[in-house]
Amino acid sequence: MPELVLHVTDIDEIGRDYDFDLTRAWLDAALQDTPLRRAGEGQAGHLHVHAQQNGQEYLVQGQLTAALETDCCRCLGPTVLDVDTELTALLSPGAMGELPDEIELDAEDLDRVRFTGPDIILDDLVREQLVLECPMQPLCRPDCAGIPVPKHVRPRPEDFGPEGVDPRLAGLEQLRDKLSDDKES
Ligand SMILES: [Zn+2]
Repeated sequence: MPELVLHVTDIDEIGRDYDFDLTRAWLDAALQDTPLRRAGEGQAGHLHVHAQQNGQEYLVQGQLTAALETDCCRCLGPTVLDVDTELTALLSPGAMGELPDEIELDAEDLDRVRFTGPDIILDDLVREQLVLECPMQPLCRPDCAGIPVPKHVRPRPEDFGPEGVDPRLAGLEQLRDKLSDDKES
């Protein structure tokens, strides 16, 4: 069930402000199948938006905050992600699909979204914005050393052979030497 719903009939050219709590249940549902999850059991998140009519379209601008966490890419430990980001979208009535050509001229950071019916539903937009905030390679701390390799599985220097060549590759090395000998002769 969408929870972040604006009724277009309430929104005029002056616009109005909306505040939504991103509940734990909402975040849990929105973030399943993403690398993100809710951090802890406290206040989960908040969305504040100002929505105003602009001709046929509706401009929605606001601030999105959420206390999330993900897994560190090195040690897989919990990595805090305090999301505090802006949300800007221009919503045009109509079905998804081709947008008019003029739209290509718009600012890149403006999300263009279609909506149908009497309501503007922000759930998917907010979910997308949260996922975008997750870094490609999250680190629990900048100098995370990763998972320590237990001593008994660490390779010993002698495992690499006397000249650093894996003994299993010795045959290849001989072949290489033979080939280069042949070339020289
Ligand atoms: Zn880590």
